[in-house]
Amino acid sequence: MSEPFDPLRYRADFPLLSRRVHDDKPLIYFDNANTAQKPQSVIDAVDGYYRTYNANVARAVHTLGEQATAAYEGARSKLAMFLNANRDQLVLTSGTTQAINLVAYSFALPRLAAGDEILVTQMEHHANIVPWQLVAGRTGATVKAAPIDANGVLDLERFEALLTPAVKLAAVAHVSNVIGTINPVAQIAKLCRARGIPLLVDGSQACPHQRVDLQALGCDFYAMTGHKLFGPTGTGALWARREHLQAMPPFFGGGEMIRTVSFDGTVFADPPHKFEAGTPNIAGFIGLGAAIDYVESVGLDRIQAYEAELLAYATAALDSVPGLRLFGRAPHKAAVLSFLIDGVHAHDVATLLDHEGVAVRSGHHCAHPLMQFFGVPATARASLSFYNTRDEVDAFVRALDKVRRLLA
Ligand code: PLP
Repeated sequence: MSEPFDPLRYRADFPLLSRRVHDDKPLIYFDNANTAQKPQSVIDAVDGYYRTYNANVARAVHTLGEQATAAYEGARSKLAMFLNANRDQLVLTSGTTQAINLVAYSFALPRLAAGDEILVTQMEHHANIVPWQLVAGRTGATVKAAPIDANGVLDLERFEALLTPAVKLAAVAHVSNVIGTINPVAQIAKLCRARGIPLLVDGSQACPHQRVDLQALGCDFYAMTGHKLFGPTGTGALWARREHLQAMPPFFGGGEMIRTVSFDGTVFADPPHKFEAGTPNIAGFIGLGAAIDYVESVGLDRIQAYEAELLAYATAALDSVPGLRLFGRAPHKAAVLSFLIDGVHAHDVATLLDHEGVAVRSGHHCAHPLMQFFGVPATARASLSFYNTRDEVDAFVRALDKVRRLLA
C-alpha cells in the first residue's frame, strides 16, 4: 500500500507558503487556478541559470551557450515526456493565450470563409473565445457556443448536434477555470474526428491536476500554460499533430525560425522551431523543466486523488455555510469552488477574506459568457492545490462565517 498523501511534507518545498499577511496571519493560498506557487527547486533552477550559465540559446557555440541550449531543450523534452508527446510537436510559447492565438492565425484564419463556424462551449476562458472571434471577424465566420446545464456539465448531445459541416474547428476547455468541470475531451475528440473537424483543447487547468496523455486524447491541438504548473510565468506550449504543424505557416517571423534568408525569400526551419521566432524565455523554461521534475516526484495520480478528497471536503464545508451559493457541481470536477454569499458582492468577500489571510480570486475570471449563463456579474473563487490542507479549508470556512456576519 502506498503511503497516505501528506500535504505538509510538500508545503515545506514552497517558501512562499510560509508567508504571513495582515497582522501576522498565516497565508492560505486558494488562488491556484490563477497562478500556482513555485517550489524551491524551480526558484533554484532559474537562479542557477542566471548565476552560472546565462547565455542565449541555439546561437552560441561557447560553453555557456551550449549549457543554456541543453537546459532549454531539455525542458522541451521533459514537457514532451510529461504530456506523452513527441518533442518536435511541442511549440514553446508564452502560455496558453499565445498557443491558441497561434492556431487561430496560422491554422484557422487561412481556412475560414463566410458562413463557417467555430464551435466552443459556454464555459470557455476568454483566451479560448476572443482569438476565434478575431479571426472569424476577418472572414465572415461565426463563433457559436455549446450549452451547459445548471450543474456546469457540458451538454454533449447538443455539442454533437452543433458539429455540423459548417464547423471548421472546435475548441474546448479540458477543465473549466471557473467551475472546475472536467470535460470528456477524449469523447469529444472522437466526435470531432468522425466528422473531420479539428479539435483544440485548452489544457491550462488540467495539466497541474491530472495526467494528460496526448497520444491517448485524440485531439488536434493542445494548449497549456507553465505558471499554473508551478513553473515561471511566460511559459507554455502548443502541441499539434505533425501534419498541422507542417501545413501551418509561421505566425511570427525573425531570428531562430529560419534555415536561410535572402532578399529572394526565406526557407523556414522545421517545426517546432519555425513558430519560435526570437529569443525565448530561457530562464522560464528551465524553471518549467524543474517544475515538471517536481510534479513527477510528487506523482500526478497521487495529486489527483488527494485533490479529489480535498474538493469533497471543501464542498461539504461550503454547503454548510448559510446563504452560500456554489456554482458548478459537475460529477467530474477539479478542486475549483466558485461561490457567492447572498447579498454580498464577490469583491467584498475576497477583500474581507484577504484580511483573514485567505487569498481567493473574485470577478468574472475571464469568462463573461459563463457569468452571463449563471446570471451574475462575478463570483468569488477558491481554487485548491495539493499543498492545501483540510485545516486551511476549516479556517477558510470560519473566515467566511465572519464575512457573512459582517456583511450579509
Ligand atoms: N484558459 C484557461 C482555462 C485559463 O484558466 C487560463 C488562465 O487563467 C488561460 C486559458 C490563459 O492562460 P495564460 O494567461 O497563461 O495564457
